[in-house]
Amino acid sequence: MVEKLKMYIDGEWVDSVSGETFEVKSPATGQVLAVLPKATVEDVKRAIDAAEEAQKRILALSIPERVKLAYKVAELIKPNIEQHARELTLEQGKPIRESRAEVEDVIPNITWNAEDLKRLETPVLRGYANPDMMYIVTREPLGVVGIITPWNYPWLMPAEYVMQAIICGNSVVYKPASYTPISAVRFVEYLVKAGVPKGVINLVTGPGEVVGQELARNEKVNGLLLVGETTTGEQVAKVAGVKKVTLELGGNGPMIVMDDANIEKAVEDAAFGCYNNAGQVCCATERILVHEKVHDKFVRMLVERTKKVKLGDPLKEDTDLGPMNNEPVVQKVERHIKDAVSKGAKILFGGKRAEGFPTKLYFEPTVIDNVTPDMLINKEETFGPVAPILTFSSIDEAIEIANGTPYGLSSAIHTKDLNTAFYFAEKLKTGQVVINGPVLLWDYHHPWVGVKKSGIGAVGGKWTLEAFTQLKTILLRIAKP
Ligand code: NAD
Repeated sequence: MVEKLKMYIDGEWVDSVSGETFEVKSPATGQVLAVLPKATVEDVKRAIDAAEEAQKRILALSIPERVKLAYKVAELIKPNIEQHARELTLEQGKPIRESRAEVEDVIPNITWNAEDLKRLETPVLRGYANPDMMYIVTREPLGVVGIITPWNYPWLMPAEYVMQAIICGNSVVYKPASYTPISAVRFVEYLVKAGVPKGVINLVTGPGEVVGQELARNEKVNGLLLVGETTTGEQVAKVAGVKKVTLELGGNGPMIVMDDANIEKAVEDAAFGCYNNAGQVCCATERILVHEKVHDKFVRMLVERTKKVKLGDPLKEDTDLGPMNNEPVVQKVERHIKDAVSKGAKILFGGKRAEGFPTKLYFEPTVIDNVTPDMLINKEETFGPVAPILTFSSIDEAIEIANGTPYGLSSAIHTKDLNTAFYFAEKLKTGQVVINGPVLLWDYHHPWVGVKKSGIGAVGGKWTLEAFTQLKTILLRIAKP
């Protein structure tokens, strides 16, 4: 039976004022999983007004009470991980083992930031130009925060931001991606159950061009966090005006393999970064730059490793690769492969949709050699289970290729030489550089930063709390009484 889900505005589960809905189809089975309200601008405005009115309710809670609320959400989710993981796999398409890990990860993400809030310190400065003044620096909430998330991590994305914005003292209007809103509804249900005050959390579902744009544009929204494609970030930035905007956008992660690298480890990390979540990760291994001296060995081993990747029903425990999430993302992968082949690249394994599955979204794990910098697969974010291999002969050439795209999120360098590792780490223009590990790597507490067109601002650990607050200075004159 198709489930009818609702949005959550001003403490109530509601339909859109228009009565319009949209369907969510499983990329794994093709079945319609649920129907959700297709919000209008009027619905979004109602959610924003409710959030504005409700901020006083979260401000009325002390920091310890807000921390307790965050722990309550985490506790409520804990017993139900398996049930949500299965639903996530049906909704998003990722293998059940990955879904389980994603939903499990929700708990430490929320509790880590609750702990960060306890210790969110700001300085007290002694005057210098004004020696009789003391500057007491504080952090204050922004007010109404809009949060817009993508479909690649439907549980992790809200878990990294929504409760965090709330415990900082903001009220939230949350808009999930239209491919994966079911997970968002389940997540918000926990916040409601935990006792987040009425109007402090609002959920609006519907198209980004309507719902997301209104959240970005509306002057009552004081802070906006968008996780999505770079082009979406640009559209949001155009209309956001003067509000605090944090953008976490696309990546094109290069992994560089030097001639002295541990090739076995490099192959394993490359495969992990290319095929995890079918390559639909902002910090996926999007490009592999291999030194010409080790190229043949690396490629041979990567093809062997790729043959072992089991594409199949994502609900089965031994499946490594499920379907991709949606038709436009598969078409983008096809476009990139076609462009590469037309310019001389060679498909060594895979390269097309797989036959015999319930939907057309299953794509073979793919290795492509002879990739050159002018190909789309090198220049743009491909977002699929593809390992494109480029060859280089000098450090300068590797750095030029790696930095030669508009993105700058995550990169990796594999070498046994410490000096080479640090030289690359300083020269690569990405928010993080992983030495001897996968491009696909993050933790709860380090700054997550996209440079160039990969984003604006930082999140992760205390930086997420900083993104949802603003500095204020209270000046105190101390004079002889
Ligand atoms: P997307 O940009 O298509 O959509 C993201 C969200 O923005 C969705 O909720 C969508 O409905 C909304 N949206 C779309 N158009 C909009 C508009 N004009 N105005 C306002 N909102 C709009 O991205 P996606 O396909 O859902 O997700 C994949 C992208 O997200 C990839 O580029 C990936 O790299 C990126 N991503 C980045 C990070 C990071 O931390 N940097 C993390 C995860 C995903």
